[in-house]
Amino acid sequence: MRSVAVLGATGSIGTQALEIVGAHPGLRACALAAGSDHAGLVAAARAHGVERIALVDPQAAAAARAAFPGEVLEGPDGVERLVAEGGADVVLNAIVGSAGLRATLAALAAGADLALANKESLVAGGELVMEAVRRSGRAMLPVDSEHSALAQCLAGAPEGAVTGLVITASGGPFRGRTAGSLADATVADALAHPTWSMGAKITIDSATLMNKGLEVIEAHHLFGVAYEDIDVVVHPQSIVHGMVRYRDGALLAHVGHPDMRVPISWALTFPERAATPVPTLGLTAPLRLEFEPPDLATFRCLALARAAGREGGTAPSVLNAANEAAVASFLDGEIGFLDIAALVERALDEVAAEPLASLEQLEEADARARAVVRDAVRTAA
Ligand code: NAD
Ligand code: MG
Repeated sequence: MRSVAVLGATGSIGTQALEIVGAHPGLRACALAAGSDHAGLVAAARAHGVERIALVDPQAAAAARAAFPGEVLEGPDGVERLVAEGGADVVLNAIVGSAGLRATLAALAAGADLALANKESLVAGGELVMEAVRRSGRAMLPVDSEHSALAQCLAGAPEGAVTGLVITASGGPFRGRTAGSLADATVADALAHPTWSMGAKITIDSATLMNKGLEVIEAHHLFGVAYEDIDVVVHPQSIVHGMVRYRDGALLAHVGHPDMRVPISWALTFPERAATPVPTLGLTAPLRLEFEPPDLATFRCLALARAAGREGGTAPSVLNAANEAAVASFLDGEIGFLDIAALVERALDEVAAEPLASLEQLEEADARARAVVRDAVRTAA
């Protein structure tokens, strides 16, 4: 029996992960955490027989205590304690944002395998996280669909045989649009993703293509591949999830329906490949797969992310934090769609990158980037 702690248990990935855990006799949920959705978290804990939960928001934790007989931890420290003391075999981190970085490090320090959906922790703290993976000797199993695909296509690769990675992008709801036509794009327009159903933040990141930028940085750290050898290609059908180039001319691809339960199950049951409700792709009906280069002039976030990744140090942390703040402002109706890229660029200009020294330094860079965005939004209002 493999015990699983699910962080971000009330979200899009978290609820799909609990579905996988509930359906597999070899998996058992042992601890659950969320931000503020106490009713959702308590219901999930009851459904899965979990006795320890954590909520970041203290008021939500108080409400949960009134309704739940088990232990309720609170605050970011409570989430870390849940991970450190939970004794899980595998921690699935599906928290949204760099708020998940401490939980990622806590999971590895606790000697658990890490199933990582929270890409922001690798973007912000890639060197620290990968160093913690090496020290722990435990497995880092990517949940992001592209990285799950890449990890599978990389399995067993001989030293020196891989020449590059290809990450696919759906292109989001604004594929084919020009920057001029996006100035007054609404929140509803940006949330209308053509192929994937996901949380709000990553859905906006998919519309700006920042999500692909974050994924390039994520792939660089996970697989140790140079930025110039990681390509992004727009593939509107979201059927090919990732591809690996080999020196003999082979291009290995991972192909399937766009359904996150597949990579979640892969990570939680590795190396077993347990059955899921998702069928393999039927090939009796005509299937057309298209690939095109991304439009970097319109979707500037992708170019900004690549540049921050290459710069390294605290730059990716600044990029990520500025993006989180800008996306939150966009979702709140405070700024326009194109302001997201402009604000990220401004934060990268104003917060000078430094070589990476510590977690505290990363958190300070993160806070400074958020302050730049907050001040710019306030001044413009
Ligand atoms: P979501 O918004 O649906 O859910 C986020 C979860 O995190 C919720 O349970 C929320 O309560 C919790 N949370 C928020 N702030 C928190 C904090 N400070 N501490 C602890 N918990 C907190 O988001 P999602 O779409 O499930 O995405 C989660 C992560 O997975 C993100 O990093 C995202 O980029 C990544 N991801 C998601 C998908 C997808 O299909 N949804 C695909 C690939 C990667
Ligand atoms: Mg992805």
